[in-house]
Amino acid sequence: MNNTSHILLTGDRPTGQLHLGHYVGSLRQRVQLQHQYQQFILIADLQGLTDNGSNPQKISHHILEVMADYLAVGIDPQLTTVCLQSALPALAELTALYMNIVTVARVERNPTVKNEIAQKGFSRALPVGFMAYPISQAADITAFNADLVPVGDDQLPMIEQTNEIVHKMNSLTAEPVLRHCKALLSEVSRLPGIDGGAKMSKSLGNTLTLSASEAEIHHAVSAMFTDPNHLRVADPGQIEGNVVFTYLDAFHPDKALVASMKAHYQRGGLGDRQCKNELEACLQTLLAPIRERRATFIQDKAMLLELLRQGSERAHEVTQRTLHAVKRGLGLPILF
Ligand code: ATP
Ligand code: MG
Repeated sequence: MNNTSHILLTGDRPTGQLHLGHYVGSLRQRVQLQHQYQQFILIADLQGLTDNGSNPQKISHHILEVMADYLAVGIDPQLTTVCLQSALPALAELTALYMNIVTVARVERNPTVKNEIAQKGFSRALPVGFMAYPISQAADITAFNADLVPVGDDQLPMIEQTNEIVHKMNSLTAEPVLRHCKALLSEVSRLPGIDGGAKMSKSLGNTLTLSASEAEIHHAVSAMFTDPNHLRVADPGQIEGNVVFTYLDAFHPDKALVASMKAHYQRGGLGDRQCKNELEACLQTLLAPIRERRATFIQDKAMLLELLRQGSERAHEVTQRTLHAVKRGLGLPILF
């Protein structure tokens, strides 16, 4: 396989600072993959607005916060094109074109969207934009000609829907104009929240951000759920549903140590405090350099904005090319 022919696209909504879920679900992989493939990262501010329409300041404020997060974890703008969704008109135009080939019933069937609508309690106040965001996400992926999308497992229904749009669009044009894509799931495709909830998510307020202080890390780990029936150190404990072990699996670099801790815990004789100490030490080690780098980057907003401008300029060219190919395929004149 020719590595250079793969194109990767991922993105994040600037709805808050990035957190440990992003790190294991996507960021860690992106940092490695940028050395192998052509990679684009989209700061999805338009998608962020779909459920924050009345609070645009929240989205605009977090654009550069997310940019600083990227640089802090090791995304290199020389290797990865980081760009801003609202700066790329081709994405909005493709969304408008795709909306005509997707039914309302199909969007309503998307399990992630269904879940999020229920969680956010929209009911009749559901914004049209939110309902349609999987279509806009399909526009994002296809505009960059991406064939690999490194994401958490909440995004699988989006990839499926994108491929349906690709199939439908290609059947309408004489030559195929869009590329099919595949999700690239990381080892930890869904990190639970620090409260043990199903997913760590900005909207659920159960996150540990990449800039969390030493004290915040300590507090979060101390409050984590373990096995509620593990009352005495000598008692055998349960690993399943034990958030501390889920996190040790996700973050601890020494897999053999974690395996032996699990066996010890299940046998009895290993206390929750000891497990938490091990987890806290590993999270402090992981986050300290990220926090430090981030603190420096966030002070230079002009530099962050300039990097985003340069990336968006490159992305503009690529996405306009796809838009023109789709327009030509549909027989729409390209006037300029
Ligand atoms: P919001 O609550 O605003 O939707 P979020 O925390 O869900 O925010 P997104 O910006 O929607 O974050 O997600 C960006 C990427 O990070 C997606 O690829 C998603 O799958 C991944 N991701 C987010 N949270 C997690 C998690 N807890 N575990 C694994 N991957 C995650
Ligand atoms: Mg989300």
